[in-house]
Amino acid sequence: MIPYKHEPFTDFSIESNRNAYLEGLKTVEAYLGQDYPLIIGGERVMTEDKIVSFNPADKEEIVGRVSKSNKDLAEKAMQSALEAFKTWKKVKPEVRADVLFKAAAIIRRRKHEFSALLTKEAGKPWNEADADTAEAIDFLEYYGRQMLRLKDGMPVESRPGEYNRYDYIPLGVGVVISPWNFAFAIMAGTTVAAMVTGNTVLLKPASTTPVVAYKFIEVLEEAGMPAGVVNYIPGPGGEVGDYLVDHPQTRFISFTGSRAVGLRIAERSSKVNEGQIWMKRLIAEMGGKDTMVVDKEADLELAAQSIVKSAFSFSGQKCSAASRAVIVEDVYDQVVDRVIELTGELTIGNPVDQNNFMGPVIDSAAFKKITDYIEIGKEEGRLVAGGTGDDSTGYFVNPTIFADLDPNSRIMQEEIFGPVIGISKAKDFTEAIEIANNTEYGLTGAVITNNREHLEQAREDFHVGNLYFNRGCTGAIVGYQPFGGFNMSGTDSKAGGPDYLTLHMQAKTTSEML
Ligand code: NAD
Repeated sequence: MIPYKHEPFTDFSIESNRNAYLEGLKTVEAYLGQDYPLIIGGERVMTEDKIVSFNPADKEEIVGRVSKSNKDLAEKAMQSALEAFKTWKKVKPEVRADVLFKAAAIIRRRKHEFSALLTKEAGKPWNEADADTAEAIDFLEYYGRQMLRLKDGMPVESRPGEYNRYDYIPLGVGVVISPWNFAFAIMAGTTVAAMVTGNTVLLKPASTTPVVAYKFIEVLEEAGMPAGVVNYIPGPGGEVGDYLVDHPQTRFISFTGSRAVGLRIAERSSKVNEGQIWMKRLIAEMGGKDTMVVDKEADLELAAQSIVKSAFSFSGQKCSAASRAVIVEDVYDQVVDRVIELTGELTIGNPVDQNNFMGPVIDSAAFKKITDYIEIGKEEGRLVAGGTGDDSTGYFVNPTIFADLDPNSRIMQEEIFGPVIGISKAKDFTEAIEIANNTEYGLTGAVITNNREHLEQAREDFHVGNLYFNRGCTGAIVGYQPFGGFNMSGTDSKAGGPDYLTLHMQAKTTSEML
């Protein structure tokens, strides 16, 4: 087996790559607006009621109309997953892993089609869409190999006359609830981690990006996944989500999304319902309020570039996005001025045009939430860039910067999830780290400094799951920078890490007298 290596990003300065992407776009444009069924036990179930997925850059363009599950259909899917579990759990780990490797190969061949679909459905600029697709491939390649490592369990000691083993076995039916912001990578990664470990899955993708999830299930089927192993049941979070979270036969829940929904699931899933004979396991990866810290002894150009890229790429809609910068006072004005200047150079518009750095935000609710926060920011700090939006054709918000904020202001504390960054001044590096730690989140962070002692201080004291030095705070790579956060950012179940799969299994000890 070839050792794991992450999927390279596409260089769109090369003409053949640009053409390949445009071909992908044509393929997607040919299937826009179609109706999609649910997939339950391999069966296609078309419902009257539909979720309409539209292009956030162009509200008139319908990406697809996806069947909507309800409690009855969710129950049907549960029964099918329970049935499939009886056989799938006995399928050899090698065979389960092979489905992932084959799926990765299929996606690699259709890479630009998937990326173009993300451009249409999630509003991702080319390079962001390409990175999302690459990450989906990485999860398949990485988790497939991790399963092969875990298939014989872990070594334990045996005394003379005794044979001890420590094996991992699957849990049961898992409910996977995924967000729209990495509509492909996180949806695919959380789904395959659950299924390669021998569980069966009920996948409820985000309602704004259900088409890419449907296309992915088709790939898994083509790669040899048996019917019922992953069931595709988009539907309203409140109705279908709550029903499955509460279900006594749900064995585990793998959730990625907001703090509010994550906590709701944590509370509901801890309740033992009638007929339930286990405590549900919960993997919950939630929000962030991620900080870039700039020291006085630092490459200030690198600092400004990293802040702008981490704050505004994909319109700031990454859980890892820099939504705060804390700058030491000696270099504060210089860095803020350069950040404003670089932000002024950003191009915003429909992401089908390769020249646009930033596309729209995901939907009208996001547009409203972000523009409401901009009004709050105007009260709390000094608006130095952006502050405007336009939702006439799509949901565009200009990259917005608030400077001179109190570290405890709402803009510095609450997750906005859009192209808005707040900046605060610190008197020295120690105070900068204290400010960086002053939210209830702890997902990512970055430090720009040339001072070795300060790097070590940050390594010890900056309390985040993913800490980066002299670079931006986004862009974790599967298998290289396992991803997950502390505190209200979730259960720190590091996606793309060496122990992630074990969260989907239970360890069984057997001891035989020889
Ligand atoms: P969200 O919480 O609104 O939705 C996430 C998923 O939960 C969706 O599929 C939604 O339909 C579903 N849902 C809603 N109500 C539910 C309920 N009552 N029961 C069960 N499921 C329910 O989040 P979002 O807007 O899709 O994603 C953005 C959020 O996700 C941000 O907070 C971001 O920071 C976070 N995020 C975190 C990570 C991470 O790894 N920590 C990665 C990506 C996104």
